[in-house]
This record gives sequence, C-alpha cells and structure tokens, in this order.
Amino acid sequence: MKTYKDEAIVLRSHKLGEADKIITLLTREHGKKRAVAKGLRRTRSKFGGRLEPCTHLQLELYRGRNLDIITGAEIIDPHVPLREDHHKYICAQSMLELMDKSIHDDQHVSNAFQALSVSLSAMEGEVNSYELMLAAFELKLCALVGYRPYLDCCISCGSEIAGTPAVLRLSEGGICCPACSGPASAAVSLEPEMLELVRRIFRTSMADVSRISLDNQAARKLMRLSFSFSEYHLDRPIKSHRILEDYRFGAAATPTSDRVHT
Ligand SMILES: [Zn+2]
Repeated sequence: MKTYKDEAIVLRSHKLGEADKIITLLTREHGKKRAVAKGLRRTRSKFGGRLEPCTHLQLELYRGRNLDIITGAEIIDPHVPLREDHHKYICAQSMLELMDKSIHDDQHVSNAFQALSVSLSAMEGEVNSYELMLAAFELKLCALVGYRPYLDCCISCGSEIAGTPAVLRLSEGGICCPACSGPASAAVSLEPEMLELVRRIFRTSMADVSRISLDNQAARKLMRLSFSFSEYHLDRPIKSHRILEDYRFGAAATPTSDRVHT
C-alpha cells in the first residue's frame, strides 16, 4: 500500500524550498516520521494552519522515496489552551523538543505517543505546577526510551534510602546513600522530600501529577533534576529548557548549584 493513515502529533516543522515544509511527527502506529507538506506556505494551502506544533491530527500519508508526503490532515485536538497561555506553551514546547530528540526518525517507542498525548491534554487542564508536569513527563519519557533511574536503594551498597539525603549519579542512572556518594563525574543531590517526590512521579499518572502541589523552590529543584537527567542521557542540550529557565527564574538560572562536579 502506497498510502496509509495514522494519528499524529506535530513536533516541529521547517521550511523546504519555496512553498513546502517538512513536518516532524510522532505517530501512534509508525513512530517518529518526517514528512513533506506540499504547498503549506501558500496562502491558499489545503492544510491551512492545521500542521502547527502541538496539534493532534488524523493524517493520510503517501510513502515517498525519501520522505513520506502528507496528503490529508484532519484535526483531532488543536490543544488551543496550550497556545493561549505562554507559560504552558513553553512547557509544551519542551515536551515536544524532548520527544523529538529522544527518538530517531522511523523509530517506534511503545507508549511514546500515548505519553505525549496524555501529557499535553493534562497540561491543558487545571495544573498546580507546570514545572512538575514537565519534569514528570521528562522522567517518564526517559524511562520509556530505556533510562529509568534506579531509585529503590543505594546502587553501591544496596541499603535502603529513606529520610536521608541521596545523590543521583547520572552516569550510573541510580541513587547512592550518603556513605557511598563519593566523587562522581556527574551527579545531582537529592533531599529526602525530593527523592520521595521523584519516586511518587513514577507511581502516578499525569492526571494525578497535575493535582500535586509544589512550592516554587521545590519546582525549580525538580526541574533542574529532570533537565540534568534528560540532557545527560540524550548527550545534547534542549533549547526549550533554557527558554523556560529564563522565563521562570531569570537568565541567571543555570543549573549549577544542585550539581556536584569533581
Ligand atoms: Zn550505599
């Protein structure tokens, strides 16, 4: 079959030639795809504004020799509330960028589409902490692509960690107790409450995460933790992270004080 249908969420788009665009999509059945939308930049394009980032669509695609071609697009959910609130929009953009950079073209990661769709919808509703929502999405996505942090006990001596500070070693992907947390090339310190919160995130749906209350300082710490963790495993910076840090906490908010470098 030369044509196929699939649901997709638009991750990003960029110009191609005079009138076309390449749209990066996360599809439900076919994984991440880059596809051409012909004539999209003409005023009377048949797609109108339907292929904007964040939009959830039903698509018809034609298998091209290099890239597939979008032949039909119907909106399932435009996620309008995410576009009308700048703070939410930046967080949603971070979700899209992280998803884009976590998955290769044509790679299919089970539940990734579901995770993004559910998270965007949850972000749209009443949310106590946007930073918490983003951090939870990022940590859960890291787990989906194979980097679930080990939080059960100390990765070095196996002792249980509860009520004491711990260190999350990025290179080993797990926590260390105070006695074992010697020099590590990249690590994030975790206060007892923060460790419990991260553990809770992995047991909790995004809809329930949206109801957790978090003060600004804790939200900032959690955000830095998830940014450090995801960027370490992706081995590349996420542009939207810096935009969000500047927007929320000012340009001086670079994640350094919570990281342990030796
Ligand atoms: Zn230990």
